[in-house]
Amino acid sequence: MREIILVKYGEMALKGLNRSTFEDVLLRNIRYRLKKLGKFTYSKAQSTIYIVPEAENDAAAGELLAEAMPRLKKVFGIAALCRALTCEKDFADITEKAIPYLAEALNAAKTFKVEAKRADKSFPMKSPQICAELGGILLEKYPHLKVNVTEPDVTVTVEIRDENAYVHALREKGAGGLPVGTAGNAMLLLSGGIDSPVAAYMMAKRGLRVTACHFASPPYTSERARLKVEQLCEKLTPWCGSMAFYCVPFTEIQEELQRNCPEEYFTILMRRLMMEIACKLAEIEGCGAIITGESLGQVASQTLNALQCTDAVATMPVLRPLIGMDKVEIVEISRKIDTFDISVQPYEDCCTVFTPRHPKLRPRLEDVAEAQAAVDFAPMIEAAVRGAEKKVFAQHISESQSF
Ligand code: ATP
Ligand code: MG
Repeated sequence: MREIILVKYGEMALKGLNRSTFEDVLLRNIRYRLKKLGKFTYSKAQSTIYIVPEAENDAAAGELLAEAMPRLKKVFGIAALCRALTCEKDFADITEKAIPYLAEALNAAKTFKVEAKRADKSFPMKSPQICAELGGILLEKYPHLKVNVTEPDVTVTVEIRDENAYVHALREKGAGGLPVGTAGNAMLLLSGGIDSPVAAYMMAKRGLRVTACHFASPPYTSERARLKVEQLCEKLTPWCGSMAFYCVPFTEIQEELQRNCPEEYFTILMRRLMMEIACKLAEIEGCGAIITGESLGQVASQTLNALQCTDAVATMPVLRPLIGMDKVEIVEISRKIDTFDISVQPYEDCCTVFTPRHPKLRPRLEDVAEAQAAVDFAPMIEAAVRGAEKKVFAQHISESQSF
């Protein structure tokens, strides 16, 4: 009895995208995701990826599949996935194997239906006949069941494919979205807060490969604060794939701001300088966009005027996936992706250390630019870019022993 995983990516996601690129990237991401878990063989046909565990016996194969499923549920580009039983393309073999295989699912259900998909049209039975006959046999074996074709508790699916037939009953929802890497690269401004990790998740879901940068101001900010951000990167890797991370030295710029610029403009100037540095790092990394965790009106630096002031120094599009979201909605996602508990640890951020008492709510671009021109930040920006420390977080680290 050999079980495999069927991964479905659905035709919808393929529209407008180069289909084979999409499939190749998804397959590569899946392989990478399962690399450290054990040996699998992969194949693809008809909008489905087949993942076959290579194990000595059925029990070991079952364990591999059980571990693979939750990992695959975090891979973007997968619409649905299920464990399925491989059968010969022979109706007798299908029924004989399906009856015990489906026991757990059918015993827990009150109603069911059978669906057949016949990709191999040379199979002697047509789909309605497969459904009717297998349905009848299952009703006999599981007499507590009733058929419900509109809203069944369990849908038993029989797929007749080129090589084999497959039976499955428990289809699980995938992470959706597009495979990471199909939409290009982007540079995330990653603070230690709740929002920016959620922004990373949301843009990775649209197929962007994310690289992160964090601005640290030691000794005002501690080593613990930096470690917290690194932990966030690790937490993101199951969704984003391996992730490069830059820690940018920001102390000199902040001290200079404090000495020479009006206090009410601190935050907005800091944002602009972060943006300039992030764009330079983004160019080095071949990124086509910047991502931030900003949400309109959340704080003084996130009013329309403030956003205009930061965008004015950006050299590429700034993506703000949380712009229209409430904090409650953002928190919900941060819990789902398991970054919330790390984000709420109380380590100071460079923004909080240098928060002005009365930030300008509607900073005018000319005034902000003028305030910034009081200091020649260019050499400091260059120094920060050069001094940024890069580290790569591989995605196996968080879930398996070693890389
Ligand atoms: P978050 O919860 O992501 O920290 P926030 O609500 O605290 O966001 P701000 O502190 O104003 O809001 O930051 C807005 C955005 O600016 C963040 O989402 C992040 O993208 C970026 N940012 C802020 N501080 C830093 C930092 N120290 N390093 C890198 N990016 C930062
Ligand atoms: Mg913050």
